[in-house]
Amino acid sequence: MSTQRAGRYAPSPSGDLHVGNLRTALLAWLFARTTGRRFLIRMEDLDRAVEGADSRQLSDLAALGLDWDPPVVHQTDRLEAYRAVLDDLRDAGRTFECFCTRREILDAPSAPHAPQGAYPGTCRDLTAAERDERRATRPPAIRLRADVREYGVDDLLHGPYMGAVDDFVLLRNDGTPAYNLAVVVDDAAQGVDQVVRGDDLLSSAPRQAYLAALLGKAPPTYAHVPMVLNANGIRLSKRDGAVTLADLAAAGVATSTVLSRIAHSLGLGGRDEPVRAEQLANRFDPAALPAEPWFLTADEWT
Ligand code: GLU
Repeated sequence: MSTQRAGRYAPSPSGDLHVGNLRTALLAWLFARTTGRRFLIRMEDLDRAVEGADSRQLSDLAALGLDWDPPVVHQTDRLEAYRAVLDDLRDAGRTFECFCTRREILDAPSAPHAPQGAYPGTCRDLTAAERDERRATRPPAIRLRADVREYGVDDLLHGPYMGAVDDFVLLRNDGTPAYNLAVVVDDAAQGVDQVVRGDDLLSSAPRQAYLAALLGKAPPTYAHVPMVLNANGIRLSKRDGAVTLADLAAAGVATSTVLSRIAHSLGLGGRDEPVRAEQLANRFDPAALPAEPWFLTADEWT
């Protein structure tokens, strides 16, 4: 795969994109295109993929005027790459098998000074005999043997950010590569050096940057952008009513209006000003982006 500089948008094809996803995608496109980067789309379809959702997501992104550099990569086509990295990490003594259930992890006393919710280390030092015994009752997940408790990243919007790193899961016990592994392997393989995504993922960035460093890769530049929230201050979701382009179109809201309102929410245009994505690129200034989330209610469309 190419190593030319790139940004990306990496949706999970679990359904149609909603206005919050579309706004993040627009921002990822703006960051990439205004810095001379390729813009890639990666379908994170290792779980929760819904048949046909990927192509509907792509047509919605195109309808907003976003373009991308082919190919669109699907993570389900990359299983061998994740396996190879896991094998290398195992051979380097960087992984261990974990037999804990979620409940056991929640109930275990946490290690002294460990961040809240961190893996308590239960299976880190099992003997071969203990592992054999446990394997008979439950297939193992594979965890990273981390040798730091925290790690720092630089974020264009949040500045220097230090966050917890624990022995996080690399391969789930159903054999599915974990998000934190796949995202790091793919960003490195695709030459992604700029990661723009919702700020709900800021706390995952230290784990991912740490894993990238273990794999000998430079961490990307991050920009964790503010989310779109509903009237209750909760992350927008399909439950919030008409929030996809298809739903909004059925309610009489044109895609061009959706783009205008997203642009307006980012300080890039008037509320009812017809805009095109390229025009927004000319106006885009990361330093002027709102730091607050966008509260979106049905009134927005009236
Ligand atoms: N697939 C993740 C999501 O849809 C995004 C992962 C990322 O951008 O790193 O929330």
